[in-house]
Amino acid sequence: MKIIRLDSKEYTPSKIICVGKNFPDHVKEMGGSALPGEPVIFLKPNSAIAFNPREVAIPESLGLLHHEVELCILAGRGGRQLTPDEAGSIACGYAVGIDFTLRERQAEAKKAQGPWALAKGFDLSAVFGEFASAGAVNDPLDLDISLSVDGALRQSGSTRDMIFSPGAIISFVSRFMTVEPGDIFMCGTPAGVGEVRDNDEIEAGIDGLPRLHFRVVRK
Ligand code: MG
Repeated sequence: MKIIRLDSKEYTPSKIICVGKNFPDHVKEMGGSALPGEPVIFLKPNSAIAFNPREVAIPESLGLLHHEVELCILAGRGGRQLTPDEAGSIACGYAVGIDFTLRERQAEAKKAQGPWALAKGFDLSAVFGEFASAGAVNDPLDLDISLSVDGALRQSGSTRDMIFSPGAIISFVSRFMTVEPGDIFMCGTPAGVGEVRDNDEIEAGIDGLPRLHFRVVRK
């Protein structure tokens, strides 16, 4: 398996594009009933990235922290107005990632009908495992995805249950924003999101991709 290193000059993301509410069971656990009619898109800044860390320190003062395990796609090519077929073929790499979320802050932002930027874009909120070259994945729509905390399984799902496929997501985004080589897409999380506490050991995996394993520090 060829590994793509995000810290090489070849791949510096211009942006990290995330999809919310992409699994029906997660929409339900968040108290929603209607499924989204189009992908729910938000961004994380480059300063949020942690690449295959051993430890992630997120200050306790920021508030309640939740884990969300997600399939992540590295764009090898860019473009605008991509068809779903074109968009589905731009991936040059796949990884497991964590979309860390400040859940109380996000809930307050939703209530105030304001943006979620701080709840999703804080430092170290985008944790990625090593990216395997796209050839490591036969079908991105048939991958088991899981996350455990201190050895206890919290999230377990399959990318079969995604409401919007990677091709549909990337095509949709490219109608509004130019997709650039090196951009990373985070494709949404299955049910089972929950709190992360100081000293928790997080282990996350997706079929055929390098696993992610690190400790969380909250001081
Ligand atoms: Mg998410």
